[in-house]
Amino acid sequence: MSKKKGYVIPCSGIGKVFGSIGRETAYIVVNELAKDKADLECLPLIVKGKKEVIEALKENKIISIDGCPLKCSYNNIMDKVGRVDAQFMTTDIVKENRDLKPEPYIIPIGENTKELSKKLAEKVAEKINELLENKVEVE
Ligand code: SF4
Repeated sequence: MSKKKGYVIPCSGIGKVFGSIGRETAYIVVNELAKDKADLECLPLIVKGKKEVIEALKENKIISIDGCPLKCSYNNIMDKVGRVDAQFMTTDIVKENRDLKPEPYIIPIGENTKELSKKLAEKVAEKINELLENKVEVE
């Protein structure tokens, strides 16, 4: 039985706090919460259609994280790979935690932004566990 992992692909949202939450979330998942089960991939390489990257994604689970309704991560993965196993929006975690208003700056990110990223990372890590346990879904 091949060992699958969950690829976490945040959008490239640059200069905005919602993009920063996506990136921070991905780092927390890959470096802390799902270390042995998750990996990152670079969205521009997917957009470019780099063969090895697309093949690796096809063989594993794919999780997109986007910072706005344009959904650059989700839409580009769908376009190049044809499948996304789970999608997350950083705006949702902000809506769900009205008491944690993300700070307007991103270097470094603020405490609330960090906390929101942790909360989203917990959801993403939980989803990766679920996806990797569900052997029926992709083969
Ligand atoms: S989804 Fe929105 S925030 Fe993310 S890269 Fe696209 S335009 Fe930027």
